[in-house]
Amino acid sequence: MDDADLAVRHEVRAEARAKEARLNAKPAAPSAHHCIECGDDISQARRNAVPGVERCIDCQTLSEKKR
Ligand SMILES: [Zn+2]
Repeated sequence: MDDADLAVRHEVRAEARAKEARLNAKPAAPSAHHCIECGDDISQARRNAVPGVERCIDCQTLSEKKR
């Protein structure tokens, strides 16, 4: 077995793993109707735009700044 064979085998395995990860991936959590931080309504547009959204735009911006 030469290096090219090894490279191909490695690639095939990586592809299989990626496929498995996709199959096992859980769908995004349902978007929240109300912000988990402040309880404000989250607009339908935002919920559609951000699957699994949990915070209103204000709290999201704040939490991203903290990081
Ligand atoms: Zn909020």
